[in-house]
Amino acid sequence: MRIVSYSRVDDVAVITINNPPVNAINSNLIADLKLSLDEFNADADAIGAVFECQGRTFIAGGDLAAFNEPDFSTDPFNSLLMSILHSERPIVAALFGTVLGGGLELAMACQGRVARRGTKFGMPEISLGLIPGSFGTQNLPRLVGLRKATDMIISGKPIDCEAALASGLIDATVGADETEVAKQQVRDLVVNKGPYRHTDKLSIADLGEARSILAPLEISAKSQSWLPAIAAISETLTAAVHEEFQDAIDIEKKWFLELLKSSPSKALRYGFIAEREARKIPSLSADSAAIKVKKIGVIGAGTMGAGIATAFLNAGFPVTIVDASEAGIQRGKDIIEGNHQSAIRRGRMTEESAADIRSRTEFSRDINSVNDCELIIEAVFENMDLKLDIATQLGKICKPGAIIATNTSTLDVDKIAAATGRAGDFIGTHFFSPAHIMRLLEVVRGAQTQSDTLQTVMSLASKIGKVPVVCGVCYGFIGNRMAEVYMRENEMMQLEGVTAERIDYVIQSPQYLGMAMGPNRMLDMAGVDVGALTVIEWLKSGTGPADPAYRVLCRTLNEMGDHGQKTGQGYYRYENRQPVASEKTAQLASDLAAKYGVAQREVSDQEVFERLLYPMINEAAAIMAERITYRASDIDVIWTSGYGFPAWRGGPLFMADEIGLSNIVERLDYYADFYGNDHGYWTVSPLLRELAVNGGKLTDWCVE
Ligand code: NAD
Repeated sequence: MRIVSYSRVDDVAVITINNPPVNAINSNLIADLKLSLDEFNADADAIGAVFECQGRTFIAGGDLAAFNEPDFSTDPFNSLLMSILHSERPIVAALFGTVLGGGLELAMACQGRVARRGTKFGMPEISLGLIPGSFGTQNLPRLVGLRKATDMIISGKPIDCEAALASGLIDATVGADETEVAKQQVRDLVVNKGPYRHTDKLSIADLGEARSILAPLEISAKSQSWLPAIAAISETLTAAVHEEFQDAIDIEKKWFLELLKSSPSKALRYGFIAEREARKIPSLSADSAAIKVKKIGVIGAGTMGAGIATAFLNAGFPVTIVDASEAGIQRGKDIIEGNHQSAIRRGRMTEESAADIRSRTEFSRDINSVNDCELIIEAVFENMDLKLDIATQLGKICKPGAIIATNTSTLDVDKIAAATGRAGDFIGTHFFSPAHIMRLLEVVRGAQTQSDTLQTVMSLASKIGKVPVVCGVCYGFIGNRMAEVYMRENEMMQLEGVTAERIDYVIQSPQYLGMAMGPNRMLDMAGVDVGALTVIEWLKSGTGPADPAYRVLCRTLNEMGDHGQKTGQGYYRYENRQPVASEKTAQLASDLAAKYGVAQREVSDQEVFERLLYPMINEAAAIMAERITYRASDIDVIWTSGYGFPAWRGGPLFMADEIGLSNIVERLDYYADFYGNDHGYWTVSPLLRELAVNGGKLTDWCVE
């Protein structure tokens, strides 16, 4: 069956693409397009042609999987575009939906473009560490000018129909029936000799400003040398200004193929696919289905409760928020109103939509107020007795079939589930702060959680714009469990004499990892007290390490009232909210080292990097072996979407495979030898060791 068809009922041919769901370009589509163009070339009675798509959008880009094929080449698509570009009879693209990447490049090769209102146009390649590879870097500046083209290619952000029309990217917008209007444009071009344009022959409108546009690009390419796509954009746009079209597209091709093989692009493409994979749940019962959720209840109007409520309110749900005290309710109201005001200031919300949201927001001190909700999320203090009490009440008052969830960061979800008396309807929803902004949602599947419950929460997560990742029950789930070993080594190195700021500097440096924020700035921002209380509870429970020096720096800072940014002193000292090195904390670390018998050492930058990253990778392997996760790539999604791990590194496990698992195991064994392994901190996970020995990869791992 062909996915591109050729037809002609009057003077203009129509070439129709039908490759659901988004008409992505792949080798079949290219081959069929070629056949249709051959038919057009052989059809002397056609005065011109129109490209149209069936389904929900014009071509929305290329098929990512094809990029990984060893013999992938841009030649077949590009030679097709070249024949469109130089067609002697006009071809007009009839556009709608999201016209992205290769879809926009095809449209730009045509002699005219008509779009349905509401269409979006973009060059998102940079988000995959690539550049447009099918003349996009050359045709876009010729159509919209160098400045606009630079903006679109470097930001990867789409523009709307109005902006596209104003910039010259398209020739007309229509309410409906873009194919008919496109056919009319073909006739105008032929009969009335309208502005018949071969895009490659156009000159760039704002050439005079080229220096001021290209100079900052060159600077970014140098200052962000770890992202070669920026240098590629700089060079190809410079070529658009200074080179002949043919020479410039050779430069574009060379860069595209080089980027395709580059590690950041591989990581970004892996991450793109991983986010989609994370939504797939193996072992769901066949007859399960998401229930219809109309109203949300939130218990606890604190930092998280108010943020969670905002996330659902922004997505159009009515929300009832319950808090135990009037002060708690007032704080919740203030946080939610603050969120609206900040969205309005940034132009992301109008006064009218804020008013609409207020009309859907209800506050109450009576827990019975959530008895008409289909999903109730508890976000009270992190205290097991309190959570058990609330769970027992919710189990009684929630309507049959309603889903009850907890936002606990560390407590045993199965234990809380049991208290409801309806564990099948119970689930963990671990949001990250600020909950209406952070993309990650860890969805904690309890031992009894039913498939319907899980499916409902996964689908709601997408509706509120989250990236949901399913985890099993364990201390800290996936993200915080791995973060715990990261924090452990961070603090141990400070006791050994490495300063907080040096640790942050090394791990934030793109040469090593490029974390958005080092562990010490993160602890200070989240609140040292918040982190310390969790550690104290864990140690008290008897399930944490039996090590008196375990995170003693954090616990002592907490006792001293040095709670981080909010108190002006934590791992850093704060001057006008800016972190500066704290001699006080360095001295405290040295005093604690003396007290707990930790030797002061010279620690290299490479060791700082290894001691932060490798134990996390080892912990991830343990999480995989315990089946707390469905697949390794889910773990990477958690780190890139919730913990500031750079997307261009793929995630800790993608990075581990790149470093080589045998190198990592060798270093873990070395540290076990060097530092001793009384508490099992350096014991290599059997799964990691086995993969290292057999030459396997962590990122290939998933539950069968
Ligand atoms: P918070 O102290 O800001 O808010 C807790 C709220 O619960 C307060 O408003 C309090 O009045 C209310 N509350 C207490 N008892 C109640 C009761 N019986 N009925 C109704 N309301 C009651 O706490 P938070 O930071 O929002 O944390 C809430 C939960 O989210 C905790 O389980 C925490 O571990 C988890 N969590 C927090 C973060 C974070 O960064 N703060 C991140 C992820 C998860």
